[in-house]
Amino acid sequence: MEELLSERLGSVSMKGAGAGKNRTLECGKNSVSGAVSQRACVFCGARVVLNPVTDAFHLVHGPVGCASYTWDIRGSLSSGSELYRHSFTTDLQERDVVFGGLPKLEKALERIVEKFHPPVVFIYSTCLVGVIGDDVDSVCRAAEKKHGVRVINVKAPGFAGHKAMGYRLACEALMKILERDPRRTDKPVGINILGDYNLAGEMWIVKDYFRRIGVPVVSGFTGDSTYESIRRSTTAALNVVQCAGSMMYLARLMEDKFDIPFIKASFFGLEDTKSALVHVSELLGDEETRRRAEELSTRGMEKAMRGISPYLPGLAGKKAAIFVGGGFKAVSLIRQFRELGMDTVMVGTQTGQREDYELIESLVNPGTVILDDANPSELETFMREKGADILVGGVKERPLAYKLGVAFCDHNHERKIPLSGFDGAVNFAREINLSVNSPVWEMARRTADPFLDA
Ligand code: SF4
Repeated sequence: MEELLSERLGSVSMKGAGAGKNRTLECGKNSVSGAVSQRACVFCGARVVLNPVTDAFHLVHGPVGCASYTWDIRGSLSSGSELYRHSFTTDLQERDVVFGGLPKLEKALERIVEKFHPPVVFIYSTCLVGVIGDDVDSVCRAAEKKHGVRVINVKAPGFAGHKAMGYRLACEALMKILERDPRRTDKPVGINILGDYNLAGEMWIVKDYFRRIGVPVVSGFTGDSTYESIRRSTTAALNVVQCAGSMMYLARLMEDKFDIPFIKASFFGLEDTKSALVHVSELLGDEETRRRAEELSTRGMEKAMRGISPYLPGLAGKKAAIFVGGGFKAVSLIRQFRELGMDTVMVGTQTGQREDYELIESLVNPGTVILDDANPSELETFMREKGADILVGGVKERPLAYKLGVAFCDHNHERKIPLSGFDGAVNFAREINLSVNSPVWEMARRTADPFLDA
């Protein structure tokens, strides 16, 4: 703790020990300048939420560098259109900074409509546009009138805040679709799944569970979604919010506007998957639906335990560090590591909320480090101090773990193996075992130490 920047002291605590004892963790603030936060920018937050809309055209109005954030680092799968996998940009340059970027944007929209005929175009206005002040809204209005397609400006200059603000902007963009000509019904049926991005096909796994217990899934936000499926979502009876950090705002907006209630749920880990299925069946179904949910969960858990059991002896007592995007995933991971007989020694998130950190604090053992919006130096310090055997995180944390000679599990957008549901829990145990018990880490640690200790 002594090595922390003074501005960061409020965002780090250690359960049951030292200065951080019994105080509320500071979160939801802008990152400390110069601390090199692991968080992404506003544009990135908006893009991760909207990019899985498969038949949308995603146009980055800004320099080409922003557009590098594309499907390749957001591996959500599609059962239909592949349009979302392309990355397009107006590629603003010096001349556009001086004279404005709107002529390029207008030309780009003409070409898009002519060549691709998308039902909706999301324009992401990034930092440069925030500085030069292009009137993108007027271009959107004119293009909608002229071409008859939805053109939605997502004003997401990276400097305007942090990733969570991007989530909010994405939710507002989705509401713009829902508010205009919403599909309504007197008898809402089924659920929407919010905050699942169909990484490695996870939305399909969850949808299949609901199909088997007899609960229709009207729409998914936004994994494997389309413009039309999003519009249908207002006919659902319940919103089930998985990634609360990114989608809770949309759930609240839909409750206010369309009277659709919501619950939080997680499909990571055996216990969480079971309680999510049973809870939804209780809220929506009859006795028979609940019975099917119980039966599916019991069978799924038994089968999963047969798959997980061989890994348990090699995992018992190992120490896990977690740094993920949102609080709800961190909570599920703590429980999953407990199911595997492992101890979580460090846990942090990019955009966790106060209630997430309170829940995390109640779940972890004394001595566990809890941190919001960490930087690489903090992650490195606490992983070494706590002797973590494995780090669970995303693309930005991977090199950090490898540099320290610590095993790594990708639980973010880039993974190719599904980790949700009962089968996903087996995949998770297999991957943790393969990584944590690989002999390569001992060798890497020996090689890295002289450099790290220098
Ligand atoms: S911080 Fe600004 S320039 Fe960098 S990727 Fe984000 S929007 Fe683009």
